Amino acid sequence: MAASAVAATQGAQTAPAELPSTSYAAATAAGEPKITCYYCQREGHTANKCFKRKKDKREAAATTAKASAR
Ligand SMILES: [Zn+2]
Repeated sequence: MAASAVAATQGAQTAPAELPSTSYAAATAAGEPKITCYYCQREGHTANKCFKRKKDKREAAATTAKASAR
């Protein structure tokens, strides 16, 4: 986790000053933005789009519904 934070900081510093100073533009200019899902620790997606999180949520909801139904 610390390595990606350092890389992002370096990318922001090396980004040309003419570009808009938004974090998204800086990340894009530096190359591929390294995002890591904090839920399943996989790179390439955020927890908002984490299929594992959605699946767990659904299963948890189903389990809760079953438990409360009984
Ligand atoms: Zn994930």
